[in-house]
Parts: sequence; structure tokens; C-alpha cells
Amino acid sequence: MVAVKRVVDYAVKIRVKPDKSGVETQNVKMSMNPFCEIALEEALKIKESGLAKEVVAVSMGPSNCVDTLRTGLAMGADRAIHVEASRDLVPLTVAKLLKKLVEIENPGLLILGKQAIDDDCNQTGQMIAGLLGWPQGTFASKVVLDKEKQVATVDREVDGGLETLCLDLPAVITTDLRLNQPRYATLPNIMKAKSKPIKKFTLEELNVEIKSDLEVVQVTEPPKRKAGVILSSVDELIDKLKNEAHVI
Ligand code: AMP
Repeated sequence: MVAVKRVVDYAVKIRVKPDKSGVETQNVKMSMNPFCEIALEEALKIKESGLAKEVVAVSMGPSNCVDTLRTGLAMGADRAIHVEASRDLVPLTVAKLLKKLVEIENPGLLILGKQAIDDDCNQTGQMIAGLLGWPQGTFASKVVLDKEKQVATVDREVDGGLETLCLDLPAVITTDLRLNQPRYATLPNIMKAKSKPIKKFTLEELNVEIKSDLEVVQVTEPPKRKAGVILSSVDELIDKLKNEAHVI
């Protein structure tokens, strides 16, 4: 099972709403979160190597999450599940919903992006692993499955180098940038995806309440960067570093 989130496309210049309550998402290009594309690619590779029977893409949010799920189906997922929610969901709510879906679907592996590029939370994978009591391999840059032993070996990129973990399955894996290069959906697969099933659930059906103990106080743009200056000599540079920047 792979969790895919619909987010503002990475190439869009983000605009903050005038009332500072969040970022503008109306009339803005939305796409699958890039780390979720990597998660889906990994799941597809696992299936193609004969280590999984099917790939199920799941997404939680407003009705147009279905577009993101169709992209996932066009990349190669077999079926999809959409949990409809009109409001933005915080990671703990997403994790609780995922737990319900895991209880229904019993996947052998749950793969998520390491973070969503809209909220940059980097929490959902860790929370769902905690809720399920499953082992977690976060920031994976390599995943090797052993179906016989029912373990996953995960390389993680950490500050000092690479950490290799061995996880008993079922497990939660979150994907880092260098794990793989996600495929593009081909036109025939986009057509085929239209007839693949997307099952819908409501929050009530899954008995999960949207409750958040977080409140967004305000969202503001980063301060504008000052324009650079061209200096005429090394002496002038040293003078500025000493007397203006006070760094030497
Ligand atoms: P975050 O913890 O919000 O940075 O998100 C990390 C990962 O959790 C994402 O890359 C997705 O795999 C998953 N995720 C978060 N929110 C959603 C959502 N609304 N629907 C599906 N997956 C989600």
C-alpha cells in the first residue's frame, strides 16, 4: 500500500493568501507529492520483481485527490482508495485513517514519502508506524525485500553516512530522493487507468474524527533577499566583511 498526497506542484511559485491563513491553492497546478511518486515507483518495482501481488494507492483529502490517484493508477498501481475529507488533514489524522485502511487491506508493506512538500511535516510515516506497532525504515535510499525471511533491508541516508536496517515485515518505509527515478505515465496507461477501480470511504465510515491540537497562527512569505553588489577589489571585500558583515 502506498500513500500519495496531492500537493501544489513543486514548480509553482507559492503565493501566500492575503489573510495569511495559508497558501493559495485555487487555480494553482496540483500534482502528486514528489516523494510519494518515489514511494509508488518503489512499490511498482517490488511488484514487477514478483515480490508483491498488487499495489494499492491511497489518498486522503478533497474530491480532486482522485486526479492524483488516477495519476498513480496510470503509473501502474492496480487500484486505489480515496478517503474523502473536505478539510486539510494533519499528519496524525492521516496516520489514523491509514491505520484503518491497513486493518481493512492487510498490506505486507506500507510505503510513504518521507515528507509532503506542502506542509514539510515529515511525521506521517513515523506516526503510522507507531500506531500500528510496525518497524519503520525512514528516509530510505535502498530497499531490498526477502520474501522468504519476511524482512526488508533498508539503507537510510543519515548525517554520518548510510545506516542499514533490517525490518521484520509488515513494516513502514518512507522514501528519500535518491531511492529511484519515478516513471512517467504513458498515454496507453493513462487511458487504462480510467477503468481501474477507486474505492471511496468517508471519515464517518472509518470512524475517524478530524480533530487537531495544532492551530496555524499565520503563514508569511520569507523576507525578500537584498540585491547583491559587485565589488571592485579584494580590499573592498575585506573591508565589507570586517566592517559591515562583521564576520572577520
Ligand atoms: P508529511 O508527514 O505530511 O510530511 O507527509 C509524509 C507522507 O505521508 C507523504 O509523502 C504521504 O506519503 C503521506 N501523506 C501525508 N498526508 C497524506 C494525505 N492527505 N493523503 C495521502 N498520503 C498522505
